[in-house]
Amino acid sequence: MAVKSVALVAHDNKKKELVDWVAENRTRFTALTLYATGTTGRLLGEHLKRDDIRCLLSGPLGGDQQIGAKIAEGEIDLLVFFWDPLEPQPHDPDIKALLRIAALWNIPVACNRATAEFILTSAYMTDDHHQAKRPDFNDYTSRDVSS
Ligand code: PGA
Repeated sequence: MAVKSVALVAHDNKKKELVDWVAENRTRFTALTLYATGTTGRLLGEHLKRDDIRCLLSGPLGGDQQIGAKIAEGEIDLLVFFWDPLEPQPHDPDIKALLRIAALWNIPVACNRATAEFILTSAYMTDDHHQAKRPDFNDYTSRDVSS
């Protein structure tokens, strides 16, 4: 039985919205393995009274890149990333990189609550046999770069 893994990230102005949404859907999250960037993860742990959230570094300190690496390694099934469309972020290149790597590896991404709700209530979330198709990059990695 494959437990699905969800990575949760929220920028400061979006943290309350993410924490509230996860708390409202607490039961659905019980069966999921949760990863989060540092501050988001700490807040979620406090509100949900869960001590099993796998907290990475804070986003601007490398946490976004850590999540990107986990996606590339096939450890994440869903990225919930409430990024702030009204506030410039010092780690903007990391945010772009995370969204790029999620698109590259065919990971579903929810950037707002409406999308997150659709995905969380999808039948695929509780289907142990469903796994998003992992792209095959063999042609790319074996391309001829000798000339
Ligand atoms: P944080 O990181 O959860 O540590 O605040 C989020 C981000 O800004 O990427």
